[in-house]
Amino acid sequence: MPNQHKIPQATAKRLPLYYRFLNNLHLQGKSRVSSKELSDAIKVDSATIRRDFSYFGALGKKGYGYNVEYLLGFFRKTLDQDENTPVALIGVGNLGTAFLNYNFTKNNNTRIEMAFDADMGKVGHMIGNVPVYHIDELEERMTDIKAAILTVPVSEAQQITDRLVETGVNGILNFTPARITVPEDVRVHHIDLAVELQSLVYFMKHYPLDQE
Ligand code: ATP
Repeated sequence: MPNQHKIPQATAKRLPLYYRFLNNLHLQGKSRVSSKELSDAIKVDSATIRRDFSYFGALGKKGYGYNVEYLLGFFRKTLDQDENTPVALIGVGNLGTAFLNYNFTKNNNTRIEMAFDADMGKVGHMIGNVPVYHIDELEERMTDIKAAILTVPVSEAQQITDRLVETGVNGILNFTPARITVPEDVRVHHIDLAVELQSLVYFMKHYPLDQE
């Protein structure tokens, strides 16, 4: 297997996209795929796909394409899909509840194992098979969890983050609009849905795509 540290970040970001699509092909019983088919389906140009796949040690053959099983094997290893990665969710509001119900099981083994909230009306319930605990129990419950999804109100984001970091979390998916501060060894991916939506509408208006 090629060393995954050599994969450029831009390529690594496309891995889950490739993984999902190839997994679907595999489920449909397809054993090979061309870069053109992939390109049409996931809207990444085929030269980029070929370059990305060459990092994975997958060389497409002309007239044959890529071996779906080989690629899936590589992606599973690289994305740690073989291992179950437990995740905690903090803030069981509208967005948090939606994530618990969705729980990502269709695509991979990354699961939300527990959730926390300050609202006694939510504590003690199971949502989408995930138990909701009181936020006061965060430290005692989060002994083996390294990744967290943050869906609390913006005003709570930093103090909850500090507590998460203290328990040993080193990856946070931040859905609050807050720009949270973390130590250098903690990775934060920030998804501000309101900004994403605004930005989409702005780009649609000012940079319409060629209908070519
Ligand atoms: P809702 O309609 O349930 O209020 P919402 O997403 O609009 O949903 P927010 O005010 O954004 O609500 O809060 C999200 C969730 O975070 C709520 O369930 C709230 O109880 C919870 N929450 C608020 N403060 C904290 C805290 N300090 N620790 C943990 N959870 C908190």
